[in-house]
Amino acid sequence: MDENNRKVIEIAGFIHEIFRVLDVPLEQNPDMKDTPRRVAKMYVNEFFKNQGRPLEELDAQMTLFDSVNSKGELIMIRNIPFTSVCRHHLLPFYGKVNVAYSPQKKIFGLSKIPRIVNWFSSKPQLQECLTDEIANYIYNFADAEYVRVVMKAEHTCIACRGVGVNCDTITTSVKPCYFNPKRFAEMGGYDFD
Ligand SMILES: [Zn+2]
Repeated sequence: MDENNRKVIEIAGFIHEIFRVLDVPLEQNPDMKDTPRRVAKMYVNEFFKNQGRPLEELDAQMTLFDSVNSKGELIMIRNIPFTSVCRHHLLPFYGKVNVAYSPQKKIFGLSKIPRIVNWFSSKPQLQECLTDEIANYIYNFADAEYVRVVMKAEHTCIACRGVGVNCDTITTSVKPCYFNPKRFAEMGGYDFD
């Protein structure tokens, strides 16, 4: 049996237990009979699919080209959608990411930036860490001169529980690790539509 199937079966057993403790009679609800397995598959194949996978697997999906930019010029990729899961509450948070980087010798194939965002989103996350992991990866992998990542998200753990308000959370990460307000503004600042 492959590793993911084994995980699905094991997790489905635990979800089944949760419903048993909550006195939800799964077997009497035809539409809930497969819920434990559906939830387990969503965890294993979607929400947490990159948990524990080595970064070399992402490296292998990357393509770099020689830069045609003059020093200090920018490449910006905006409104990259993402969904991740808050590791404090196991509830989704989702939104958009704006990436800007100033290359040195190498640039990414453009479609690789959303792929990087997706990679780091697909495990239990904190928005602050996710923003930083994306910036760090771009900075190191392409040996970029400067990277700025801004992420705007809605957290269902804020909207659907506790005080129950709808609000946006914006996080930033810049590399190298010093915040230069002028450079940050030139790279789009906190730009969101
Ligand atoms: Zn949360």
